[in-house]
Amino acid sequence: MKVLIAEDSRSSQIVIRSYIEDAGHQVVSVENGQQAVEQFNATEPDLVLLDVIMPIKDGIEAAKEIRALCEQAHDWVPIIFLSAMTESDDIARGIKAGGDDYLTKPIDAVVLNAKLDAMQRIANMRHDLQKANQKLRLMAMRDGLTGLANRRHFDEAMIKEFKRSTRSQTPLSLVLADIDKFKFYNDNYGHQAGDDCLKIVAKLIQSVIKRPGDLVARYGGEEFAIILPETDIIAARQVAELVKNIFSENKIPHAHSSVAEYVTLSLGVASLPSGMEKYQNIDEAVYSMIEMADTRLYEGKKQGGNVIVSE
Ligand code: GH3
Ligand code: MG
Ligand code: MG
Ligand code: MG
Repeated sequence: MKVLIAEDSRSSQIVIRSYIEDAGHQVVSVENGQQAVEQFNATEPDLVLLDVIMPIKDGIEAAKEIRALCEQAHDWVPIIFLSAMTESDDIARGIKAGGDDYLTKPIDAVVLNAKLDAMQRIANMRHDLQKANQKLRLMAMRDGLTGLANRRHFDEAMIKEFKRSTRSQTPLSLVLADIDKFKFYNDNYGHQAGDDCLKIVAKLIQSVIKRPGDLVARYGGEEFAIILPETDIIAARQVAELVKNIFSENKIPHAHSSVAEYVTLSLGVASLPSGMEKYQNIDEAVYSMIEMADTRLYEGKKQGGNVIVSE
């Protein structure tokens, strides 16, 4: 663990520090509450030990500020007060201010070690929880079958990119792609094969989308969306062509499609419309851009599929 100690008495600080280091932990020590708050931010400790009475800023005030910082970060770090037996009112105030426990001075090495063990358990749980939360956040944004961004992620990204593009006056493009005659693929090869096909389609699309700001999402069942920031309609059409071509180069067999002997896509391309003032709000503006791409995609289907429509 990384332990932050705030203690103004030099001798007491040295003793506690050596106990904690002997137990195999890393120590950062400071001499007042002000420094404790600063070091808390800088070092992200797993445990904080605060003396109650210190100059400049006492332990209770520091505990309040550290708690507030934790809350901002949706995090929690245990705080233990160091206090003389005679300071029982301070202990009560300290716990109220956000402290979790206390140790009485002079510090007993056995008690300190026992508390360090308990805090180590909490630190481990905290790390596991953070990892699980991180995983959940990622899962909530990913499509389970293809691993691409899911519809929710796409919706959020569109709003974000739309705002960015209007703010920075840079173009934004969107490509919607829908597999041609996919129902026949499922009907003839089976749903499992259909799922496998969707995974390959996702990989092929992703393989040509190279810029880090671009986002490929599974928009619906057999529909995919590509958000292309800082890309105008001409460049976006070129990207759509790369996508279309990768399917004619890799030919996933689809013997039951009337469009080709392999899996093909129809693609609709739209770019950020000018004349933003006609939109009431951003949702409406984003919706109209998606609708534009969708209308063009549908136009491509009417033209027989395996085409790109961008105007
Ligand atoms: P079009 O060329 O007009 O796009 O025809 P289509 O057959 O591709 O389109 P349609 O909308 O008629 O059918 C889409 C099919 O995609 C039907 C549905 O069963 C299939 N599909 C959607 N999501 C999934 C999925 O997650 N897995 C599988 N295997 N199939 C899916
Ligand atoms: Mg003191
Ligand atoms: Mg469809
Ligand atoms: Mg389709």
